[in-house]
Parts: sequence; structure tokens; C-alpha cells
Amino acid sequence: MFSYAIGVDLGGTNLRIAAVDEGGKLLSKIALGTNVKLGREHVIDDLCRATKAMTEEMRDKFQGTAELRGIGVGVPGLIDIESGRLVESPNLPGWSDFDVKGEIEGRLGTAVILENDANVAALGEQWLGAGRNAESMCMYTLGTGVGGGLILDGKLWRGWNGMAGEIGHCNVYPDGHPCKCGSRGCLEQYASATAVVRMAREAVVSGAATELSKLAGNSDQEFDSRVIYEFAMKGDQVAKSVFERVGRALGLAIGNMVNAINFPVFVIGGGASNAWDAFAPALFDELRRRSYIYADTTAEDGTGIAGRKRTTVVTRALLGGEGGLYGAARLAMQGQTAPGK
Ligand SMILES: [Zn+2]
Repeated sequence: MFSYAIGVDLGGTNLRIAAVDEGGKLLSKIALGTNVKLGREHVIDDLCRATKAMTEEMRDKFQGTAELRGIGVGVPGLIDIESGRLVESPNLPGWSDFDVKGEIEGRLGTAVILENDANVAALGEQWLGAGRNAESMCMYTLGTGVGGGLILDGKLWRGWNGMAGEIGHCNVYPDGHPCKCGSRGCLEQYASATAVVRMAREAVVSGAATELSKLAGNSDQEFDSRVIYEFAMKGDQVAKSVFERVGRALGLAIGNMVNAINFPVFVIGGGASNAWDAFAPALFDELRRRSYIYADTTAEDGTGIAGRKRTTVVTRALLGGEGGLYGAARLAMQGQTAPGK
């Protein structure tokens, strides 16, 4: 029997729902805004109404011959996988300790799998994106913070209590900038969009940034990572050095992961990954210094030593904002509900 799954991307701004078949083909998609201000009841109402409409659409379209395999929901924030509660989410204020899974299941009468948005994005990239030819991969999502996901043998690796993949809090500088997680010098403090802006502002305060300081002082213009990237690509030395720090931090972090797990593929996504051209040279340089395993596989012309070894691939994500939608559907299709299973 033909089957499909529904993926939901429940973000702080966007609420998107997609029906996807087993081969990854998009059957239907609905994009709504997340009316966070109207409260969680309202948002859950919107979500359930649209999901019901989609299952009815599928039933009509395939005249009852399509089987719904499940519904996967990706949300930003910390989730208790066992209970399906959203422990906390900076993007969904007022949702702390809310039983999102139970609430949706109660209204739809169907089993729902709730998962962290960065984890489902990783699963989506492994299924249909940059990692589609690899069974295992690691993804870094560079946004306001740095999220991530680990896929082992085609399945999301959640760790023993569902907290695996918090690779934005891997340490790159022991005495570095304080992080909200309580540590210092986490990758997130050097490779997120927030970190790019902070490092540029630090350069402005120190007097090192001349062109950037004009921009930072102009209240009419946004001083964000995209603008700083444009400065770097125009040759501004300070903006270039900011992205070099991003690349070095990523190279350090990925080098440790190559040495520990030896993933064949590393995918870098999220909004700040658009600055790839500015940070990638430093990333690869640092990665070669920090991981002899990586350096060994990229020796000579990059094709591996005499064909004995395959090259570790570090590349950009391909699905953009769609990765989470596809990954949520994939998770529901796999029926992967408990940590480590
Ligand atoms: Zn941290």
C-alpha cells in the first residue's frame, strides 16, 4: 500500500506542514504563520486544523488507498522525549513545560513524534539533502545559536536521555566568551549569527574597525551577520577576520568530531551558513591542523591517498529551511520514538 507521513515545522515565526511520500516526494504543503502572541492554544488549533485538512486532502487525492504512517513535529527548544513535553523554548514564550505531543495527539487522535528542530533538519539533509549518499553524518545549524544533529546508520542518534546533538556547546576555547549554558568558549559563541555580530561589535569598540564602526553607529541600518558578511566579501579586513574566527571555531569543533566519531559527512546549514565563502577557508585550514585523520584523507589532490581512503566531506546544506519539514516526516515514517532506539 502506498504510504506517506506528515512533517510539521513549528517555529517561532513559521508554521509549515507537509505531506511526503516514502521516496521523499512532496505531496502537499501548507505554510502558515505562527501566531505566538495569540497563545499556544491558538497555535495548536491552527496546526491541528491544517493537519486534518491535509489528511483529508490525501484521502480524497488517493481515494483512500494511501496510508498515513505518522506525524512528526519539529520544534525549537529543549524537549523531554519520553513525555513529549517541551521543557523550554526561547522562540515559543509561554510554552515551557507544555505537553505539546499529548495536546496534538488528543486533538488529532493519531500518534505524534515530537523532536528538536535541529535534529529533524539533520535527518532531512541525510535523507534528501547534502548527506543523501551517506548513512551517517553530523549537521551543524548556524542560526541565532548553533544547533546540531547526529545521524548514525540512517537514524537520529538521541543519546541516552535524548539530549545528544548539542554540538553548539562543544568547547572550542576553554577560557572563551561566557555561554548561556553555563560554560565558556562554546562553539555557539564563535559560529552563530549572534556571535558574528558580537565579534564585530567588539572590534568596533576596540577601535580596530573603521568602516564597520560607521555602520554600527548608524541606527537606520541593521547591523547583522549578513551585512558583516557583505563587508567581508568587499575586502574589509575586520569583517574578514570575524569570519576567519567563525571558520577556525568550526574547524576545531569538526576536527574533534572527525577524531572521535569519523563521520563521513559534515553538513553546515542555518542562516549564517550563507557566509560559507567567508569562513570556509579558515575552517578547512584549521580542520587539517586539528585532525590528522581528516588531513590524511585529504592529502595530495584531495581524492585520498592512492585511492585507499575516502575523503571526509564537509559541505553546505542543500534543503535550506525545508530540511526540518522533510526530516520531521522522515522521523514519523521511521516510527523512531524512544531515545537511542
Ligand atoms: Zn554553551
